[in-house]
Amino acid sequence: MLCERNRNMYDYLVVGAGLYGAIFAREAADKGKKVLVIDKRPNVGGNIYTEKIEGINVHKYGAHIFHTNNREVWDYVNRYAEFNRFTNSPVANYKGEIYSLPFNMYTFNKMWDVATPEEAEAIIAKQREEIDHEPTNLEEQAISLVGRDIYEKLIKGYTEKQWGRDCKDLPAFIIKRLPVRLTYDNNYFNAKYQGIPIGGYTRMIENILKGIEVETEVDFLENREHYSSIAENIVYTGAIDAYFDYKLGTLEYRSVRFENETYDKPSFQGNAAVNYTDRETPWTRIIEHKWFEFGKDEEGNDLPKTIISREFSSEWKPGDEPYYPVNDEKNSSLYGEYKKLADAEEKVIFGGRLGEYKYYDMDTTIESVLAKCREVL
Ligand code: UDP
Repeated sequence: MLCERNRNMYDYLVVGAGLYGAIFAREAADKGKKVLVIDKRPNVGGNIYTEKIEGINVHKYGAHIFHTNNREVWDYVNRYAEFNRFTNSPVANYKGEIYSLPFNMYTFNKMWDVATPEEAEAIIAKQREEIDHEPTNLEEQAISLVGRDIYEKLIKGYTEKQWGRDCKDLPAFIIKRLPVRLTYDNNYFNAKYQGIPIGGYTRMIENILKGIEVETEVDFLENREHYSSIAENIVYTGAIDAYFDYKLGTLEYRSVRFENETYDKPSFQGNAAVNYTDRETPWTRIIEHKWFEFGKDEEGNDLPKTIISREFSSEWKPGDEPYYPVNDEKNSSLYGEYKKLADAEEKVIFGGRLGEYKYYDMDTTIESVLAKCREVL
């Protein structure tokens, strides 16, 4: 017997208009599905949202630099935005001493006054002898990659501020994100493709969502019955524990708070990102947004003002924005329990950094959503 299908029914309700949600919605709509996207914020873009202030695209939820080795992902985003040639070369400030990042010959030269890869390698080899087994935590991993000197000045303070935990209690994989190079190369990412979308990420997300119904400032969890009743399927990109009313306990997240300042001068720090790697400075980094676009507006004019964001890291508590999952053992195993509940929700796909409790980058988010689309659409 044929079921009478409600004519107002959506094939997919997508909860969250960030990168995962927007791309799922695009792919579904392109396959002829009827899609509604909702978001509790007043804007689309999730954490890649940018807002133009004083002609500068301000990364409101932290710096986002697009980088990938995946040609399919790169081609995909280039359909919705043109990318500039920005290359991330952050600077570390340790009590006023300036070091190049990621760890490379410029860093080693400043730290040990060495000039050749052999000299640097010899020092690192000596210092890593301290760790004589497979690293089991971030501290051991860091020392075995770059030695104790660099660990103490450029890793320990920054990491403990960012994660609010001792480096011995953090998983080793976090630090593997950072390249170590015996060359003079300040490019932070080992990626074939890199850049910032010209005109900002918000415009890119708007292009992805073109022609798709979007409702902002609506909270799915507070209107769960209504929204569940109007869609055949749900793609949920919010926090997985919140979806289940925290019934197995709360997963831990790190949250980030930004203090923004506008200066009536052309430059504050001369670089997009400066990391404060000592323990005492309360912020982890300062982002100067105009340098993501070389200090110019889209017409190529120099911008007279500058906007900076000081980034403060804090433990997430209910009501805050969750940013980073804390993938330590305790949380990973609790996530495993939530995942079982999620798998039993037949109508619902859980995706993205919060839905999968995973430290995704933008490119891996896209890989993951495109794989999901291939599976279900
Ligand atoms: N990190 C560090 N010193 C730095 C920058 C990064 O020790 O100056 C380590 C730290 O453990 C951090 C990880 O590398 O958690 C990843 O940092 P990144 O800034 O790439 O992370 P994001 O916040 O941008 O995702």
